[in-house]
Amino acid sequence: MEMYIDPHIHLVSRTTDDYEAMRKAGIVATIEPAFWLGQPRTEVGSFKDYFSTLVGWERFRASQFGIVHYCTMGLNSKEANNVPLAEQVMELLPLFAGKEGVVAIGEIGYDDQTEAEDRFYRLQLELAKEVNLPVLIHTPHRDKKKGTTRSMDVAEEHQVDPGWVVVDHNNEETVKEVLDRGFWAAFTIYPHTKMGSERMVEIVKQYGPERIIVNSAADWGISDPLAVPKTAHLMRKMGIPEEHVRLTTYQNALTVFGLSGQMDENDWLKAPSIDQTKKLGGNSVLRGGQVPRVEGPADRVEN
Ligand SMILES: [Zn+2]
Repeated sequence: MEMYIDPHIHLVSRTTDDYEAMRKAGIVATIEPAFWLGQPRTEVGSFKDYFSTLVGWERFRASQFGIVHYCTMGLNSKEANNVPLAEQVMELLPLFAGKEGVVAIGEIGYDDQTEAEDRFYRLQLELAKEVNLPVLIHTPHRDKKKGTTRSMDVAEEHQVDPGWVVVDHNNEETVKEVLDRGFWAAFTIYPHTKMGSERMVEIVKQYGPERIIVNSAADWGISDPLAVPKTAHLMRKMGIPEEHVRLTTYQNALTVFGLSGQMDENDWLKAPSIDQTKKLGGNSVLRGGQVPRVEGPADRVEN
């Protein structure tokens, strides 16, 4: 039975068809990092409701398709630049960081590498230490190499253990330094870009599977919620050992985010996979007389 974890996917933007396809492809668990929404938020209440969705409705919705949903909490770097709002969001974060299923503080770090981004990144590194959670770092798309190095410098300055930090959105230019410094190196596989599955295979061939993690970062943009299983299939086809596939598309994410004490393999191995008779706050995923699916753990094998 193939099992995958997609440790970076923005499921609030995806459909129930995506959930069905993901489960069918072997994805058993997902992590949804708190991020921006394409449109800047103007009120702290929008953040509060979004954070509540991540630990509430979306977690429930995933469960209705046999996928265990976790999330990370944080103020993203883009919106850190709205300082008065960012200050209010910081006051919300400790409460949400302690909720069930929250496995890290993230995704935090730099976007344009402004002073405000630096300030709120540092505050959130301190928060992660206080609440004893791993950190998920979003590295900038512009000036990536410099931004990645700086993210790690600052994490070290705040004495955050690199073994508790996942540096995301790596490429060939950043991976060596991230691994050499003892951080976890995550890779986002976007369709029709430089960082496709083929290049991921080459990176695993070159660097091996230790501390390397594959994700889709699928959101409302052109992205692929099946990027993790597709990359795993390509790795096998290209002769990468099965154990290396397992580490990079399943176990490494579980190991580092499991440091939170909130993520355990038994969450998906022992729980009933799907029970669509359930409701959350009186709401269900079913529409207009659809028949609920109910499956026990033994029904999970579909591959
Ligand atoms: Zn993201």
